[in-house]
Amino acid sequence: RTKEESELYRLNHRSGNEVTVSEDLYALLSCAKEYYEKTNGRFDISVASLSDLWNFKSETPKVPDDAQIKKTLKKTDYSQVHLEPEHKVVFDDPDTMLDLGALAKGYIADKLKAYLVSEEIEGGYINLGGNVQVLGTKTDGSDWRVAIQNPDSESSYLGVLSTADKAVITSGGYERYFEQDGQVYHHIIDPQTGYPSESDLTSVTIVCSDGTTADALSTALFVMGLDGAKELYRSGSLDFEMILYDGSRVYVSEGIADSFSTNMNTEIITIQP
Ligand code: AMP
Ligand code: MG
Repeated sequence: RTKEESELYRLNHRSGNEVTVSEDLYALLSCAKEYYEKTNGRFDISVASLSDLWNFKSETPKVPDDAQIKKTLKKTDYSQVHLEPEHKVVFDDPDTMLDLGALAKGYIADKLKAYLVSEEIEGGYINLGGNVQVLGTKTDGSDWRVAIQNPDSESSYLGVLSTADKAVITSGGYERYFEQDGQVYHHIIDPQTGYPSESDLTSVTIVCSDGTTADALSTALFVMGLDGAKELYRSGSLDFEMILYDGSRVYVSEGIADSFSTNMNTEIITIQP
């Protein structure tokens, strides 16, 4: 998004309200639309201007002015971005910008996996900075083992998942944040408030055969919190499994409950479909 020669940069710095994009970008924007709709707008890639305002990557980030947040919220609504035939993207608001940070890595991992499959590779492990995607099994036929980081400690794991042919993607407020006046501000934004999501979860891992879905949902379910996550899981509108942590208990959805193990001294609660 910050690279001037990129297609996304050109889309965000368009003149006029209509842009024709490549097939790849259109596919990604369409996925984002589906997740926006299925998460009641908690997953919203039009948070770009809010992310700029919060500027989490800066050396000296600080809490923005509340009035500025309110103003920026007006151009944060992916329902004001329309995907039309022939890869045309139409914006209601000339200033709305899009940010693919929540799902691009998952999409790229899907493409890498497809490439490995096309080269007849039977097993592999792709790790894009914590976004893991496994292909097939290990050479001895046993499942891959993917460790999930403990958000409270860099040197320990929440647990280990045994899996084959799946994306395993985690989001958490501990990944990027700053502190001001004793309060922690992290990089996952609640599009309803414009502030970092006050989630009751500290870590969300999604396990899914599709990496794009896993990446988007890890971010979305973090914003939705425990009850919202359970509700989406039970609705069956998207096919995924999940591992959630609220700082004291681990919640594991039933489909992967037998494949997850932990050494931590915490309660594990199974979420039924
Ligand atoms: P992830 O690490 O996959 O959870 O993605 C976090 C990134 O997604 C942030 O750094 C922002 O670029 C973007 N983001 C933040 N909040 C949201 C949101 N509510 N919906 C979609 N993207 C978001
Ligand atoms: Mg994500």
